[in-house]
Amino acid sequence: MPETDLFTFQSLTRATDIGANCYLLQMGSSRIILDAGTHPKREGADNLPDFEQLPYDSIDAIIISHSHLDHAGALPVLVRCQPSAKVFMTEETIELVDSMLHNSVNVMTSQRDELDIPEFPLFTHSEINATKSDWLARRANQPFTFGKNQEISCEFFPAGHILGSIGVRLEFNGKSVFYTGDVHFENQTLSKAAAFPNDNIDVLITETTRGAAPRRADYTRQGEIDRLADAIRTTIDRGGSTLIPLFALGKSQELLLILHELKKSGQLDDNIPVYVGGLTTKMTVTHDRFADTAHRNHLGFRFLTGGMDLIIASKKRKKKDKNRSIPYDSGRIYALSSGMMTANTVSHGFARHILPNERNSILFVGYAAPDSPGGLLLKARDADEFQLDEEGAPIPLRCQIEQFDFSAHATRDELRDYARKTAAPHVILVHGDEPARLWFHETLSADLPDSTITIPAPGDVISM
Ligand SMILES: [Zn+2]
Ligand SMILES: [Zn+2]
Repeated sequence: MPETDLFTFQSLTRATDIGANCYLLQMGSSRIILDAGTHPKREGADNLPDFEQLPYDSIDAIIISHSHLDHAGALPVLVRCQPSAKVFMTEETIELVDSMLHNSVNVMTSQRDELDIPEFPLFTHSEINATKSDWLARRANQPFTFGKNQEISCEFFPAGHILGSIGVRLEFNGKSVFYTGDVHFENQTLSKAAAFPNDNIDVLITETTRGAAPRRADYTRQGEIDRLADAIRTTIDRGGSTLIPLFALGKSQELLLILHELKKSGQLDDNIPVYVGGLTTKMTVTHDRFADTAHRNHLGFRFLTGGMDLIIASKKRKKKDKNRSIPYDSGRIYALSSGMMTANTVSHGFARHILPNERNSILFVGYAAPDSPGGLLLKARDADEFQLDEEGAPIPLRCQIEQFDFSAHATRDELRDYARKTAAPHVILVHGDEPARLWFHETLSADLPDSTITIPAPGDVISM
C-alpha cells in the first residue's frame, strides 16, 4: 500500500474499560498518539498502556486531551521511549498535567513502601521537569500542522469537561479523524459546554462513559443543586458538619463555585466556613491563574484571591496523621479530596470524625467506583457500622449519606445525537465499560446503518 493511503487506528489500552487511555493513529507516514493515561485500578507497570507495541522513537506527535490521569498519567514514560515525538496540549492542560504528575510521583512513592510495589514510582520529579519544557501549547480553534512534511493539520475544540480539555480533529490527505476525549455538551457551573464540529468527520473516536447509565427523566442540574443545598442546610441546622469528598481537579472547583453561588443567593448562610484540603488547593490555584482566559463561565472569578473565603488545610503530607491540620467542629463544610475516599487521602482520614455522629452528613457529588471506600460506604449507608480501614475496628455509621449527579461527562443521548449529526462513516467506541460500549454499538448501528461502528479490541489494528 502506498504510504499516502495508510490510515489506521490501534487501541493501546490493556482492557476494554475506562483507564490508561492511549490510541495510535497512522496517517500516511505520520504516527500520532492520542492520550497517554494510567489505569486507576492497576498497580505497578500494569497501570500503563501497552507501550511495548511501539518501536523505540517511532512516534511523530503525542496529543493530550486533558489533564486527568487516565489521559495523561503515563506521559513521562511514553516520552522516555519516544524522544522525537512532539507533545501538544492546551496551556491550561500543561500546568494541570505538571501538577498531577508531580503529585502522582509522591503517591507512587508512598505506595511503593506501603503496598510493596517495587516498580513505583514509574518516573521521577526531575523527569517531569525535563519533559515539561518540551510540551507545546496550542489554543482551541487555532489550527496548526505537524508531521514529517507538515502534512497533518490539527485543530483543538473546547470539550467542556474540565479546565483546558479539548477534542481534536486531525486531517490528512482529505480524510479527517475527530477524537472527543472526555466531553460534556452542557454548561456546568464553571466549565462552558463543548463546542465541537459536526461536519467533515470521517472517523469519530468517541468516549462512551455513561452508555449504561441513562439519566433519570426528571433530572435537572438546578434540581440537583437545590437538593444539595437542602442537604447542607439541614445538616448545619441540626448542629452537624458536612464532608464532601471531591476529585481535586475539576469536580472540586465546580462544587466550590456552586457553594459560592448558593451563599450569594442566600440558599446557604454566608458564614458557613468551607475547608479545602489535599491536592485541591494546588489545582484551584491553577484555575485562578487562567480565570481571565479559559473557555469557562464566570470569567474573572478567582477562588482564592477575593472570590471565596476558603480555609485551606495545611499542605503537609504526614504519613500517619494527614488531618492534624483540619480541625473538626460542627457547622462546617469540609470539601476534601479524594472523591472516592481512597485510602491515605484527606477525605478518607477525615471521614472517621463524620461517620459516628447522626447530625453530620457525607455528600458524594461525583462517581465512586463500587469497590472504592466511597462506593462501599454508599452501599452500606443503611448499615450500623462501616469498616473504613482494612485494619482496625469498624466505625459506627450514624451520619446521613447522600449522592448527587454532577457528572462532567455527556449523557449517552447527547453523545448519540452528536454521532448522528456527524454521520461519520467510521465510529470507534472508547473510554467505557463493556455494557456502556455495547449500548452505543447497538444504538449507533441502528442510527447509522451505512457506518461501521467498532469496539476496538486492545492491540487490534483497524484500517479506515
Ligand atoms: Zn476526564
Ligand atoms: Zn477519562
